[in-house]
Amino acid sequence: MSDASNILGDSPYSIVIRNPELLTAFLLLVFCEIFWRKFVREEEYGAAEAAASVGIAIGRAVAKPVMIFVLAGLYVFVYDMRIYTFDMTKWWSWVLVFIGADFLYYWMHRFKHEIRWMWADHAVHHSGNRMNVFMNFRLGWTGLLVGTWLMHLPLVLIGFPPSAVITTYALSLVWQAWIHTDMIGKLWWPLEYVLNTPSHHRVHHSRNPVYLDKNYAGILIIWDRMFGTFQEELEDEPCDYGLVERLTSVNPIKIAFNEWGNLIRDVHNAKTWKERFIAAFGYPGDKKAVIEAQTRILAEREQAKAKAAEQAQTVRTQAAAE
Ligand SMILES: [Zn+2]
Ligand SMILES: [Zn+2]
Repeated sequence: MSDASNILGDSPYSIVIRNPELLTAFLLLVFCEIFWRKFVREEEYGAAEAAASVGIAIGRAVAKPVMIFVLAGLYVFVYDMRIYTFDMTKWWSWVLVFIGADFLYYWMHRFKHEIRWMWADHAVHHSGNRMNVFMNFRLGWTGLLVGTWLMHLPLVLIGFPPSAVITTYALSLVWQAWIHTDMIGKLWWPLEYVLNTPSHHRVHHSRNPVYLDKNYAGILIIWDRMFGTFQEELEDEPCDYGLVERLTSVNPIKIAFNEWGNLIRDVHNAKTWKERFIAAFGYPGDKKAVIEAQTRILAEREQAKAKAAEQAQTVRTQAAAE
């Protein structure tokens, strides 16, 4: 359990740093991205933002031992109460635990966006205004407090060993290490249909109204397609990264606690207990307005598409008549 429990407080970068092959691949990706941004896009890489991301990663590394200490015991305790025991020497047990963990990841990630208490921690990951592999480094310091560790407990309770559950989690984290980039366009369509790709994850990090609250997937994008949160990256809608209320600070401490500050302010300003409860545990923003805006934008796009097709048809008919 010692190696496995180490992963409990893990992040894409800590797994990558421990594995020389992954580290080489990651550094190569960083190098390509810097080169591509400078010479192909002719844009600034954003060194200050990248340095802030590294600062956030260092802060999280300090919080990690506490997380491991608390969670390792809890996982073992829950596994002792399991209702079944899956045999992990069977391949199908691994398929089940992978699908189960990815499904739970989707829902936990969705809750992190839709429950203010959890968003206060997860907003850190969305605070970057540029998409690059350093976005991986931006992970909240308060995961233990908001309860993200609850995510995998159902799998342990039904009988998957903590080490197996944690291995699938590590796989998910490693997958996410390469999808935070502008450099990789859309992949072959069957891959885009099934997997969470750089294109899908760019949408997830965007503040454009049409892209809000979309693409929560870990590895399989099929969950978003199934539960109505999928949005394709649109060619004529470039991704505008960052928080709706943009954060430009490059101070890691400010970034790590910014949304907690907003939450405390809103709870303090609320007049009734109901308002206070909503400020702490409700949707962070106006959900109705977001849905209305998205419905309107998508309807307008459909109308524009139909009109363009109609005009093209008229031109073809006129050309044929002449
Ligand atoms: Zn997110
Ligand atoms: Zn991300």
